[in-house]
Amino acid sequence: MGESAVRIGLVMPDVLGTYSDSGNATVLACRLRWRGLSASVVEIGHDDPVPSSLDLYLLGGGEDEAQALAADRLRAQPGLQRAAARGAVVFGVCAGLQLLGTGFRTGDGSWQAGLGLLDATTVPGPRRAIGEVVVRDCAGLGAEPVTGFENHLGRTRLGPGSRPLGRVVTGTGNGDGTDGAVTGRVLATYLHGPVLARNPALADLLLGWVLGAPLPALPLAEVGALRRERLRAARR
Ligand code: GLN
Repeated sequence: MGESAVRIGLVMPDVLGTYSDSGNATVLACRLRWRGLSASVVEIGHDDPVPSSLDLYLLGGGEDEAQALAADRLRAQPGLQRAAARGAVVFGVCAGLQLLGTGFRTGDGSWQAGLGLLDATTVPGPRRAIGEVVVRDCAGLGAEPVTGFENHLGRTRLGPGSRPLGRVVTGTGNGDGTDGAVTGRVLATYLHGPVLARNPALADLLLGWVLGAPLPALPLAEVGALRRERLRAARR
């Protein structure tokens, strides 16, 4: 994509910022800049129109009410859906995952339509899933597990139009032994962290989709050591 900056859309951080997933935007921008590429983060508030011209869109977690509000606003305007249709990368976390699906039932029993960018439906589970999560066998990540923490009531079932991100070995994720959903360049997970700070390979997978080629490695010894320590802790 030449010398132009990668434009990262942070979708409704004022509403979907409850779990600090907005840090995913900072991680993506840093990983581009550290490689000499330019990046800009466009913050899209819940009252703002959603531009359809950005390269990558991030949706974070939030309470049921926040999630329902965000889903309403996003359904009412076509920016994100148009961007996804022309191949923009979309990354959702928890509430972001649930609202990218076809629909979700909130804790109070009401049904909300999602954006339909993932073939996934969500209903409340028997109890809140809270704690560390480790996900293995993630397509595109080789042997690298994905780690993060979860805090959600919803359980997500995928239809044939989406495949899971990977297999849960610690924690709950979707609730059926898998975590997340992927359809084309729309990828979502239950994992907070921010998850892209904890999993550089996942950040680079998304950036590789944007740039059209895998990125050169960016070894950061301290990040690698922290990652190994978290994986050890999750096994204890
Ligand atoms: N409200 C959703 C749930 O509890 C999402 C929570 C979250 O984003 N962490 O399932």
